[in-house]
Amino acid sequence: MGMFDTYIPKPDLPCPVCGASHLEWQSRDGPRALFVWEQGRPAPAGQRVVDESVVSPKARAEIRLPERFEIYATCACPTFLNAVGFTEDGVWTRTELLSAANAVAYHHESEREFRKRLAALAEHLGHSSESRD
Ligand SMILES: [Zn+2]
Repeated sequence: MGMFDTYIPKPDLPCPVCGASHLEWQSRDGPRALFVWEQGRPAPAGQRVVDESVVSPKARAEIRLPERFEIYATCACPTFLNAVGFTEDGVWTRTELLSAANAVAYHHESEREFRKRLAALAEHLGHSSESRD
């Protein structure tokens, strides 16, 4: 459908820069059908569309997320945030901010580009932990 889905991490994943909570997390790594995914629930909690393209509750109950997916949010502070969701047995169980430790290369990324991005991620985390204290 070329859309995205909305993601609700539980517990909430606040902005690491300003602490704002309940950000609007979205992703194109899942089914991309305006589903609302809630961490801890195997199937989408809902779908944000009006009538015709709504998937039946029965079909919706069968839909699962991939093992690893990236979600993003834009905080008003303003910061663009990336996080990684992980599923176990089809259930979204864990969410972490994207870091050098959990990043994987994108399909379009060369080895060199990926290493460059890892270095930037490591540096970025260093800065944010410094400014927090
Ligand atoms: Zn913020």
